[in-house]
Amino acid sequence: MSDCIFCKIVEGTIPSAEVYRDERLYAFKDITPQAPLHVLIVPTRHIATLNDLSAHDEGLVGEMVRRAAAIAREHGYAERGYRTVFNCQSEAGQSVFHIHLHLLAGRPMGWPPG
Ligand code: 5GP
Ligand code: ZN
Repeated sequence: MSDCIFCKIVEGTIPSAEVYRDERLYAFKDITPQAPLHVLIVPTRHIATLNDLSAHDEGLVGEMVRRAAAIAREHGYAERGYRTVFNCQSEAGQSVFHIHLHLLAGRPMGWPPG
């Protein structure tokens, strides 16, 4: 989508710090990290919110979650722990309307989230 910043990041029009890329996923460092490790995992195809997922996307979502686990392991957080978050819609904190899985690690995390 032409006015989506994450589509521009996937295309490379907006620079980002790449962590992982394949045909279906791109992972990059969050520009305003909320933890020592803060990576965003996005599908290369534009999907605005979790509400827009279809049954065909079940594999894609599974790949996003498994990629988050792989990146956490690569950075040494598999045993220590990490958090994964999908925000859906504004009240939950979604500010970019291209789905993204936050991977956060490296500090204690409170619960419930704010
Ligand atoms: P949301 O608030 O939608 O769940 O998360 C959006 C995330 O994208 C935020 O954590 C924000 O810091 C990050 N972000 C917004 N714009 C950019 C950008 O241009 N580059 C990168 N790397 N991260 C961004
Ligand atoms: Zn997009």
